[in-house]
Amino acid sequence: MDTRPPEPPPLQLATTAECREALETLYHFLDGELTDTRRGEIQRHLDECSPCLEAFDFEAELKIVVARHCRDRVPERLRMRVVMALTEASKEDLASE
Ligand SMILES: [Zn+2]
Repeated sequence: MDTRPPEPPPLQLATTAECREALETLYHFLDGELTDTRRGEIQRHLDECSPCLEAFDFEAELKIVVARHCRDRVPERLRMRVVMALTEASKEDLASE
C-alpha cells in the first residue's frame, strides 16, 4: 500500500518531536521561506535546545560552504564537525539514561 520511499532520517541530534519538527523547519528557515511568526518559534526553540542549536549552526554553515564551493565537496573539517556532533549527542543519550 505504502509505496513512498523511506525518508532519510534527519540529523540524529533530534530527541523530541518538537526537535524533529524544528530541524525539519530548519531548511525552510535557512531559505527564508518562513513567516515571521514561525521563524520566531524556531528561534525560541533553538535558544532553549542546544542539540537543535548545534544542528542549526551546522546546517547554516554547511549551506554557506556549499554555496561557496558550488556544491562540489564537503570540506573535511566540516565533515568532522558532523561526526563529532553526532558522537556528542549519543554520549548525552547514554548519560541521560
Ligand atoms: Zn530541540
